[in-house]
Amino acid sequence: EIVHVPLRERAYDIYIGSGILEQAGFRIAPFLSRPRVAVVSDETVAGLHLERLQAALRVEGIDSDVLTLPAGEGTKSWQHLIQTVEWLLEQKMGRDDVVVVIGGGVVGDLAGFAASILRRGVRFVQIPTTLLAQVDSSVGGKTGINVAAGKNQVGNFHQPCLVLADVDVLETLPERAFLSGYAEVMKYGLLGDEKFFEWLEQHGEAMKAGDTCARIAAVRWSCQMKTDIVIRDETERGERALLNLGHTFGHALEAATGYSDRLLHGEGVSIGCGLAVELSARLGLCSQEDPSRVRAHLRDMGMKVELKDIPGDLPSAESLMDLMSQDKKVVAGQMRYVLMRGIGRAFLSSDVPRAEVMRLLNDELQHA
Ligand code: NAD
Ligand code: ZN
Repeated sequence: EIVHVPLRERAYDIYIGSGILEQAGFRIAPFLSRPRVAVVSDETVAGLHLERLQAALRVEGIDSDVLTLPAGEGTKSWQHLIQTVEWLLEQKMGRDDVVVVIGGGVVGDLAGFAASILRRGVRFVQIPTTLLAQVDSSVGGKTGINVAAGKNQVGNFHQPCLVLADVDVLETLPERAFLSGYAEVMKYGLLGDEKFFEWLEQHGEAMKAGDTCARIAAVRWSCQMKTDIVIRDETERGERALLNLGHTFGHALEAATGYSDRLLHGEGVSIGCGLAVELSARLGLCSQEDPSRVRAHLRDMGMKVELKDIPGDLPSAESLMDLMSQDKKVVAGQMRYVLMRGIGRAFLSSDVPRAEVMRLLNDELQHA
């Protein structure tokens, strides 16, 4: 399956399927001016999948040097950015060379950012290995690192020249990480396509169980939806913000739990989507049935759904509210929420009464 991202001179293709990693050599070869690439990965992914990538490159006579970074969010830092850029320069990377990134959203964001500032921008190939990276972070060109001021506060828009999403590599992904990525998949159904949400209600379990066809279909559908939004609004001046459905609540929950193992990003998104649709129902924007339907699906999938599913002490409604207003989605002092008129019908709203959100959070915390 191929999803084309038609961004004029920055257009590229996303190849999605089984056995795509084995095709890396001949898919990447057309982009090379010499038979050598610099590969960036993390320790976990390198241990599992690097050999197959290098073998696929070798078949086409392409040599590869590899930088292996530690796994984990901490790698999206100034320190590792410097390390990566210096390493790429040591490899004598020229303007015509290509960086290949194999891993999750962390190395994708970091090495994509490094590629964007190396000699004012060199091309890079994304080989996303988590579900989250396949459906979200590898598509759309956002790159960056975390700094003291917050997550993703330093970065660039830099589109890859090619994305190779092989669902076979998801087989080594722990279930919790898979479900975290699934939250983003479900988000696409919620925000823009009720048919897709319905499909997920029917095929989500199969995806979780490892059904290759279901996984390919869901990744393709998600990439297509993200692409459609990104080409209309590449630099997030408007519509692209719909992709933040569930994220205003989710980011606050992540911050409240210290970006720790207590709550993965997608788990925050899952709970956040539940809260966003509940809020929409309370505001009379969508049917009362929508929140129960969404949460029922998440529960069936074995995902975190409510605040009480977060282990440990929960923050107060007040502190969650504060964390939400620190999120970057605040425009001109007004909190912006992604709300829903129904499943598949998200929109941006800047006039949600603070009291209504406080009441929702307090009610949810009471259940906890
Ligand atoms: P990640 O890259 O940290 O991967 C999660 C863990 O899974 C890591 O320990 C990794 O080593 C391991 N892993 C990766 N692939 C594996 C595989 N196939 N088998 C076994 N283990 C594997 O995290 P992530 O969830 O992929 O990405 C999260 C990051 O993505 C965050 O930093 C977030 O800000 C960023 N992000 C960026 C965008 C964007 O548009 N650029 C969008 C969403 C998220
Ligand atoms: Zn997300």
